[in-house]
Amino acid sequence: MSVIPPVDLTEQFRTIQSDVNAAVAEVLASGQYINGPIVETFAQSFGDYVGSEHCIVCNSGTDALYLALRALNIGSGDEVITSPFTFIATAEAISAVGAKPVFVDIDPSTFNLDVTKIEAVIGDRTRAIMPVHLFGRPVDMGPVMDLAARYELIVIEDCAQATGAEWMGQQVGSIGHVGCFSFFPTKNLGGCGDGGALTTNDETLAATARMLSEHGSRVKYHHEAIGVNSRLDSVQAAILAVKLRHLDTWNQRRTQVADRYHTLLDSVAEVVRPLPVTFGRSVWNQYTLRLPQATAEGQERNQLQQLMREAGVICMVYYPLPLHLQPVYSHLGYQPGDLPQADAAAHQVLSLPMFPELGEAAQVQVVQTLKDCLTKVGLKTAQYC
Ligand SMILES: *Cc1c(COP(=O)(O)O)cnc(C)c1O
Repeated sequence: MSVIPPVDLTEQFRTIQSDVNAAVAEVLASGQYINGPIVETFAQSFGDYVGSEHCIVCNSGTDALYLALRALNIGSGDEVITSPFTFIATAEAISAVGAKPVFVDIDPSTFNLDVTKIEAVIGDRTRAIMPVHLFGRPVDMGPVMDLAARYELIVIEDCAQATGAEWMGQQVGSIGHVGCFSFFPTKNLGGCGDGGALTTNDETLAATARMLSEHGSRVKYHHEAIGVNSRLDSVQAAILAVKLRHLDTWNQRRTQVADRYHTLLDSVAEVVRPLPVTFGRSVWNQYTLRLPQATAEGQERNQLQQLMREAGVICMVYYPLPLHLQPVYSHLGYQPGDLPQADAAAHQVLSLPMFPELGEAAQVQVVQTLKDCLTKVGLKTAQYC
């Protein structure tokens, strides 16, 4: 039995292997392993791709978020509004600078933060809104930017899962004051290790973020702040420069994969498929279904995932516990039910295998396996889909 993994990076590597090997060999031969010329070249091309004037590359998406917050002088006593239904790094960065994450419930039809619920939690201490373009789907940025203008707040876009996604014709990461990207291997533009970037049109912010990423120094061995060591390795920059040239093609393939799933799942009444994006373009980092009839604790969803795994199709659950209910945030005092849509999503979501090279035959197998396993789980038919 052939196993279908949630993501397979090896097939893609084979298609660009000679270019990647040559680029890596060049860096190795140059001896410039840290801050070699390829790092600046890649940063420039990535900034151009996103459509931002400045791009600072760093060690991870988590660091990009941290550096953005630090450069904006957000810290102790400040609040940052974000989604509870995201990877921990989003809120972790807010906490790491000493600020407090304030969670807003999500829109059940998109899994992104519900922009109509932001205003109610804006207070005296609010400094920024951090929308997350989850699973590759752009947040509706219009209302976010309007609120930011009205309340003089900063908008930090978490674009880690959405490199190449668009809102109203604009790339994510170029809409708010700053965009934060991850080059973790499974992201849409992934390296062969960790990496990240921050994009902005604000020159001062860019210079400050760069200074903080280099041990708080602008001039070597002169330090004006306690910074961090957060760089993109020359080897990673060289690999990412090769891969950036293919990103649009790969994102288009992801769209084809998503379209095929949409068709194949047409008659599967137990699941709700992702909604088409009306104001932009998703880059489908994940194809995430909802099982609206799954009950608390997610036992039906977990059983389905387990049965599918046994049948050779590996699905993932992003995310089984929303951030406001994580042990690390118990001091914030959120209770189950406070953010009901995030709670429900956590026990109803299932992400199907998704990567640009996933072929039709494999997708047919995924959906057939899903159908077979659904009958064993005994979920009732969804009321809407
Ligand atoms: C992956 C991810 C990050 C963190 O990126 P790393 O490069 O792994 O540090 C931040 N936010 C979201 C939503 C992510 O998916």
